[in-house]
Amino acid sequence: MIDFEYHHPTSLDEVFGLLDQYGEDARVMAGGTALVIQMKQRLAQPAHVIGLRRVGSLNSIESTSEGVSIGALCTQRQVQNNPIVAGELPLLADTFRKVATPRIRNMATIGGGLVNGDPNQDPPPALIALGASAVMTSKSGDRVVPVEDLFIDYYETDVQPGEVLTSVLVPRAPTGSGSVYLKFLPRTADDYGTVSVAAVVSQKPDGSCKDVRIVLGSVGVTPIRATQAEDALRGQPLTDENIRAAAALVKDAVDPLEDFRGSAEYKTDMAEVFTRRAIEQAMTSGKTGS
Ligand SMILES: Cc1cc2nc3c(=O)[nH]c(=O)nc-3n(C[C@H](O)[C@H](O)[C@H](O)COP(=O)(O)OP(=O)(O)OC[C@H]3O[C@@H](n4cnc5c(N)ncnc54)[C@H](O)[C@@H]3O)c2cc1C
Repeated sequence: MIDFEYHHPTSLDEVFGLLDQYGEDARVMAGGTALVIQMKQRLAQPAHVIGLRRVGSLNSIESTSEGVSIGALCTQRQVQNNPIVAGELPLLADTFRKVATPRIRNMATIGGGLVNGDPNQDPPPALIALGASAVMTSKSGDRVVPVEDLFIDYYETDVQPGEVLTSVLVPRAPTGSGSVYLKFLPRTADDYGTVSVAAVVSQKPDGSCKDVRIVLGSVGVTPIRATQAEDALRGQPLTDENIRAAAALVKDAVDPLEDFRGSAEYKTDMAEVFTRRAIEQAMTSGKTGS
């Protein structure tokens, strides 16, 4: 590990002052589960690490008229177990329960996971399917970025110099809609997904598709929204044939990297299979009101 100086500010103003002072030599740290590994591997070599843990204003979860506001420093465990999230965003509670192990979830934060930009992470597809936004704060004020637009490339996210992700605003899914997050884990239960899919489906009284959002993880350099599949379903009867045809369209949208979890071809096939299952299960969960 390289030598670095650790700072532990207690307010955002202090964080902005340190970011100003040290510029590109500084990195903020939340749970440290990703950054410390990157520093050990010398993929990141900051001379100054600015710990956010003592900035008290960043770890609350509140229900607002626009949805649920989640402080960037909330741990994955906190989000998973929070009663507001469980009641208003069951998709998110279920998604965070599927991240890694309790040891990781006790340390890793919702903000750190988003800024990290690893396309294999679980929360981004669910957050994008729910239409969440990230609030990026700098000394000049707030900038609100849809989570969908946050991911630029492999481990590259839209965070400008001097900015800190301070909260994530997650709208509630439409009344009567159903949702699901599926994580395909052929190796071990605590692995990253080989393929993952989040889907939110709402239906009209006649059972046709009113709206649908489908987002895949682990099948490209960023999370991928399956807009062609969504367009093919919107307004259409949710028949087995239509769902299969829509799911087949994700094969053109994904571009998986080959790794020890599978070949690109295998992941592409599984993307279709898990998209179909996600749409079917989201429809069922909507009918049972869960
Ligand atoms: C063994 C292991 C298994 C894992 N398995 C899974 C899994 O199954 N599913 C999954 O989804 N994830 C998994 N992860 C990844 C884990 O979710 C991420 O490491 C974690 O979300 C990062 O959050 P953090 O708070 O620890 O971020 P940190 O490590 O503190 O920071 C990560 C990056 O974000 C920046 N940053 C952090 N907070 C902010 C902020 N508020 N504003 C601006 N920049 C910020 C840092 O500078 C750094 O670049 C695993 C990690 C490990 C180590």
